[in-house]
Amino acid sequence: MMAPYYRDTWVEVDLDAIESNVQNMINYLPDKTQLMAVVKANGYGHGAVEVAETALASGADWLAVAFLDEAVELRLAGIEAPILVLGRARPEDVLTAVKYHISLTVYQAEWLEEAMRFYKKNDPVFLHLKLDTGMGRLGIRDEQSLSRFARKLKEDNRFVLEGVYTHFATADEDDESYFNEQYQRFKTGLSWLKKENINPNMIHCGNSAASLKHPDKMFNLVRFGISMYGLSPSPSMREKLPFQLKEAFSLYACLTHVKKVEPDEAISYGATYRTSSYEWIGTVGIGYADGWRRELSGQHNQVIVNGERCPVVGRICMDQLMCRLNSEVPVGTKVTLIGSDQDERITIDEIAELLETINYEVPCMINERVPRIYLKNKEIIKIKNPLIKGIRL
Ligand SMILES: *Cc1c(COP(=O)(O)O)cnc(C)c1O
Repeated sequence: MMAPYYRDTWVEVDLDAIESNVQNMINYLPDKTQLMAVVKANGYGHGAVEVAETALASGADWLAVAFLDEAVELRLAGIEAPILVLGRARPEDVLTAVKYHISLTVYQAEWLEEAMRFYKKNDPVFLHLKLDTGMGRLGIRDEQSLSRFARKLKEDNRFVLEGVYTHFATADEDDESYFNEQYQRFKTGLSWLKKENINPNMIHCGNSAASLKHPDKMFNLVRFGISMYGLSPSPSMREKLPFQLKEAFSLYACLTHVKKVEPDEAISYGATYRTSSYEWIGTVGIGYADGWRRELSGQHNQVIVNGERCPVVGRICMDQLMCRLNSEVPVGTKVTLIGSDQDERITIDEIAELLETINYEVPCMINERVPRIYLKNKEIIKIKNPLIKGIRL
């Protein structure tokens, strides 16, 4: 039986879109280059387990997450593909990584030393070395540190360097000079490793942006995140994508109340909106506590009702918002906040622009309060509502 939800507010995740984006990317990459599906942050808000399973079934070979808990979540769900943790893990948590066959990111000789001290078993610890070529976040930046790291690594053959990688700061921008500089520094870093006689199997640098622009420069693995979800890495890349991306995420709620309001009446907290004539006002069951940010209050933000755009009026409340309808419609009518309804469509990019942020943040901000419905071949295959996971009917 499908898990229920008792408020008509939900996210739809189109797993066929994810499948298509992954397959198109794999076909676009050279044969030697594998795909790592980045499912950190609950699969950018789409659902880590569901996206991971779909990506793997569509030909992805690897998964990536931000921290160890996210990797363990995937293992507990029964996923067996290789997983890389992109952020830092504690040296004392190597045992957990080994137990669940999870690869860790490293970039300090001191980390290795501590991990070697903590770890008492003999099973191999799989590591990817991170080089900081200009992102300034994590990674080794100079040859001396790399050589100290290499020396430490050679002291203990339980620690296996499976990969080496870097991350670009500007791959989505039109001006490629900084990207090129980072790329050159990465090649230099690889040559330092080679001098140390360390030759990891996996070499990777590309996020979605770099991989879409330079598929032939991505060594043997790409870390495919935002565009797996059907989104362009930046507005400027939107027009130049090598294949069509399909957006997987839609957000809906229903009208919970509909009324005709007299002229010059106020709507919502602060009474900031006043009706200018008789207006049909609809109340919608979603608010800022669901992640539908309060900054979206006001008429620039629109929703779609029966294929027509309607402005949000007044301040967005914690669990509800109001919109101005073009005519009387029944309570229970579906309201589209992200996605398509007939010929109208609200994209994640449109919401990102209203919020003056990037599209990455938009699906991430819709939290667990909003159930996720998974579609495959237009049919619902799963409903996830963490709030009442234990309910018995
Ligand atoms: C999130 C992340 C990615 C994925 O980037 P996209 O732009 O979403 O494709 C790749 N590599 C690292 C290190 C990341 O943190």
